[in-house]
Amino acid sequence: MRPPTIKDHDVRLYSTEVLERVWLTDRVFEIRLSKPSTFKFMAGQRIRLLHRAIRRDYSLITAPSDPTLALCLKKIESGEYSPILASAKPGTQLSFTGPLGYFTYRPSGRPTVFVATGTGIAPFLSMVRTGITGFTLLHGVHRATNLYYRDIFSRAARLYIPCLAAEAEETEDRESVFRGRVSHYLAEHLPSGNYDFYVCGRQEMIRDVTLMVDARFPSSLLYTEVFY
Ligand SMILES: Cc1cc2nc3c(=O)[nH]c(=O)nc-3n(C[C@H](O)[C@H](O)[C@H](O)COP(=O)(O)OP(=O)(O)OC[C@H]3O[C@@H](n4cnc5c(N)ncnc54)[C@H](O)[C@@H]3O)c2cc1C
Repeated sequence: MRPPTIKDHDVRLYSTEVLERVWLTDRVFEIRLSKPSTFKFMAGQRIRLLHRAIRRDYSLITAPSDPTLALCLKKIESGEYSPILASAKPGTQLSFTGPLGYFTYRPSGRPTVFVATGTGIAPFLSMVRTGITGFTLLHGVHRATNLYYRDIFSRAARLYIPCLAAEAEETEDRESVFRGRVSHYLAEHLPSGNYDFYVCGRQEMIRDVTLMVDARFPSSLLYTEVFY
């Protein structure tokens, strides 16, 4: 039987219920949702939560075969919607449309490099949970305590490089982290070659990485997902 493709999954309106909320740091949390029986998606895709006139997209972090759905969110203190989700109690009813997006893994002969900042790690978590291994992952965060899912990615990746903002405080594991931006790591340390880059997070980071890929890895492929 051929594997499912994005075209197989119709975008529809669904109802779901909050099952659980778990804080990963003081500002980042996971929210687990019931999975409507007819909802299907591919790892790397997202849903659009609907709340009155508000529409917000979130990448799924669970594998398509998991019995529930989950998201990884940063609570933006001044934000309109993420604080509502951050305080949503189990049993809260939500509506969403989906699945959305084309940020899915496409195997090729080239080495894969995943690049994320902050919660931009979310779609890669879903991919890893479907069994994808052997990639290089750069995760840009301010400090080491924000390396949520470090264990999962350390096990699945060929090379897992936490990139800590230069201004962050010193950490004890200086050996295993890169001090600087993900684009600086690409500029200074990734050997030249042809890669498949998957880049997710802040648009400024995606622009910097795109420029770096054009300059240093011009025959590579680049897939992007802009969060904000
Ligand atoms: C394709 C796509 C996938 C997304 N997936 C995720 C996801 O998996 N997890 C997630 O946390 N967010 C994700 N987002 C961002 C999310 O949709 C919301 O924009 C975010 O939750 C803020 O919504 P808000 O209503 O609280 O803030 P708003 O009132 O919309 O915005 C307040 C301010 O916060 C900024 N902002 C938005 N997101 C962030 C962030 N992560 N860090 C810092 N500043 C931010 C905005 O640029 C704006 O200036 C995704 C966005 C897109 C387009």
